[in-house]
Amino acid sequence: MGITNMIKIDVYEKPENAKKVFQAYYNMIKKSIPFREKDIAEAVTHRFMSEYNYELGMKPEEVANNSEKDLTYEEYLENYPELKYIENYPELHKFLFPTDSTDLTKKLSIENLGMLLCGYMDEKNIKELRTNCFPKEERESSTSYFNDENGKEEQDQNKKKETLGQLLMKNVFRYKAMSEKKELVYKFVSTLNVQVCPYCNRNYISVVIDEESEDDKKKFKTRPPLDHFFSKSKYPFLAVSMRNLVPSCGVCNLEKHDNDNNILYPYKEGLGENYSFRIMTDKSIRYILGQNDVDFHIEIKENIARLSDIDSDYKKRVKESSETFVWALNYEFSKKYVLRVLKNRYYFNRTFQEDIVKGMPGIFSSVGEVQQLLNIKLRPQEEDNEEPLSKLTRDIYNSLELYDDI
Ligand SMILES: [Zn+2]
Repeated sequence: MGITNMIKIDVYEKPENAKKVFQAYYNMIKKSIPFREKDIAEAVTHRFMSEYNYELGMKPEEVANNSEKDLTYEEYLENYPELKYIENYPELHKFLFPTDSTDLTKKLSIENLGMLLCGYMDEKNIKELRTNCFPKEERESSTSYFNDENGKEEQDQNKKKETLGQLLMKNVFRYKAMSEKKELVYKFVSTLNVQVCPYCNRNYISVVIDEESEDDKKKFKTRPPLDHFFSKSKYPFLAVSMRNLVPSCGVCNLEKHDNDNNILYPYKEGLGENYSFRIMTDKSIRYILGQNDVDFHIEIKENIARLSDIDSDYKKRVKESSETFVWALNYEFSKKYVLRVLKNRYYFNRTFQEDIVKGMPGIFSSVGEVQQLLNIKLRPQEEDNEEPLSKLTRDIYNSLELYDDI
């Protein structure tokens, strides 16, 4: 059994956070992709306003910090020659420049650019993007459109062949150009403020910047990998798309790789309370507590009480995800931790905790602090982004009432 994102990333649901993220994101991409700054700013703010029904606090031209004049399509191509690659993708081209192709004054669709840059990559939107950006026959085929033979025409015969997708990513949706702007990427990732991997809830992810250092290489020490929920190889036009970038731990990033088959999407959904960790054993809990060795398994189960909330598509995504992330094997490593939590919970009961507070008033000011020390302070679901194993701890603790022997 395996589970992918356990934890939903809720950063965009808090407007004050979303605002900071949108601005950090705009700063990060504005020089990476070949569109006018003003258009990118307009696309980002347009999307933001339609979702949150309030403004970024500044007008797009102020965000872009200049007042470029409108360009005709011809002038566009002159200024941003990289855009000619988009002409190789008739559907994508039509999506971005939707007016008649014979009309040389055709304009960039700000709304569609906004969708590409910061739309939620959920099933409905991705379907719409696929429909609008892929040729029909390729959409229905399992092979990648971007291995299209046309790509060869662009190649120097002596060089390694590049697919159209690679060209598109290199020249238009330029992930590499973006990721080289370390300071801006670090800023964006730290604004997301996701502290624990949403795919596993086991590993911390941290942004470490050495403010003292002048040298960029030494200054930007570490940041979590940004997982492309929809892979760069199959969806190069989503390479720098804000909600396609999921900060994750190195292990999950590696395990997921290019797999984007209908798994749970962390910006929209997590396991929540629909599924819970359970201790599986044929022994009693009291017996387990007396042992120093682990004598149980951890599994994740559907919550019977919530079955009516679990629709079959969601269930499928959970199952599909499970094959990607080898959850069972990973959580095997947490069994000693669970045993410790169980022992702490059982032996250091409420009376003991209160006695500690009374006995050491200078050290503990509340029972909560003692519980924190013992790893038995339960965190609410909203804080799962801040503490590894918080879902496991909460679920195991809450499920103990199911066992009647303690
Ligand atoms: Zn992870």
